Amino acid sequence: MNTDTAERASELADRIDSAAEGVEAQVIAWRRDLHANPELGNREKRTAKIVAEHLKSLGLDEVRTGVAHTGVIGVLKGKLPGKVVALRADMDALPVSEEVDVPFASKVRTIWNGEEVGVMHACGHDCHTAILMGVASVLAGLRKQLRGTVKFIFQPAEEMPPKGEDGGAKMMIQEGALQNPAPQAIFGLHVTSRQSVGTIGYRPGPTMASSDRFGITVHGRQTHGAAPWLGVDPIVTAAQVVLGLQTVVSRGIDIAREPAVVTIGMIKGGVRENIIPDSVEMRGTIRTFDEGMRDDVHERVTTLAEAVARGSRASCTVCIEKNYPVTVNDPALTAEMLPTLQRVAGADKVQFVPKVTGSEDFSYFQQLVPGLFFFVGATRPDLDPSKAPANHSPRFHVDEGALLLGVRALSHLTCDWLAAH
Ligand SMILES: [Zn+2]
Ligand SMILES: [Zn+2]
Repeated sequence: MNTDTAERASELADRIDSAAEGVEAQVIAWRRDLHANPELGNREKRTAKIVAEHLKSLGLDEVRTGVAHTGVIGVLKGKLPGKVVALRADMDALPVSEEVDVPFASKVRTIWNGEEVGVMHACGHDCHTAILMGVASVLAGLRKQLRGTVKFIFQPAEEMPPKGEDGGAKMMIQEGALQNPAPQAIFGLHVTSRQSVGTIGYRPGPTMASSDRFGITVHGRQTHGAAPWLGVDPIVTAAQVVLGLQTVVSRGIDIAREPAVVTIGMIKGGVRENIIPDSVEMRGTIRTFDEGMRDDVHERVTTLAEAVARGSRASCTVCIEKNYPVTVNDPALTAEMLPTLQRVAGADKVQFVPKVTGSEDFSYFQQLVPGLFFFVGATRPDLDPSKAPANHSPRFHVDEGALLLGVRALSHLTCDWLAAH
């Protein structure tokens, strides 16, 4: 960079910061409004309308609505030639009843998968949506100095669509979210209770786990509980399957390379004490940080359960439903953008964070475009982040200082990346 371009870059950086400060109050207001009016996955109609109207009011070059049900895509072309960066925010809330005492707490209730539930932005997607709307304001105001094109992706149903429906990042991609124009880099963020407000967390490579659900049904043969030899007991067999599954990770997986988790979270069988039932049903989740290990764990869970059942003269069916892939931050992109994050938050506020066994469908975008997904601390400075109610808790609470940092981080990442490419 020669002195001239360096000067222009720092002038643009100053403009981003003052524009971000200028929209902060508006971003907070958007976030509170979205927080008080949360919508579940594939139902983000009001949210999407607010987003689309805002993007149109900024005079973006294109605003597409109804992508993957309720998704919105905005395209902003800078006056200077350059490449394309995509920024993604998720818009959906969770079936959680809010217990936080704030004036804009959610009182919304709805029907979800056949049950009446409270609705709450318990994962902070209200913040992500408000932040990206703010970034759109900032960058639209700097259009004359902006190099290249910015694509704003507002995505529904990150927390999984309702039963029987498609949705989320995968469906947005199927409906062309990464085409016309195709981005060469993508950025996304998540607010987190695990870090204090003012900090940013990052990690190159595998960062969040793949997440797969599975069900195992053990088929035995019903008989009297007093005469077990006359039947095949699926309860004892299921117990052996559960214990056997504990060896999949502990004895079979190279945990020095990547960790993995196999959990049985539900087990159901039998109706009374003196009847050995016909079958037992179990459900669980599998988390890995490597796609090869993911396939290996699936194969081990299946063959182990089948073999244990056979050894007990029972049989079993294993059904694994693949959900989100591993969230992998492109190592080169992460290294390249780290100085930007350090400049924005302050070098001592940017933390290299451990892997997260939660999952993210941002991973689908990263499978096609080099991407960086990072964390923005949201816990009040006077609280210990390790004890603060976590994302998804009915008491999850975001310190709104996180919003301005989020707007600045995404705006600077975008301009720095476009300037360097
Ligand atoms: Zn979540
Ligand atoms: Zn989330």
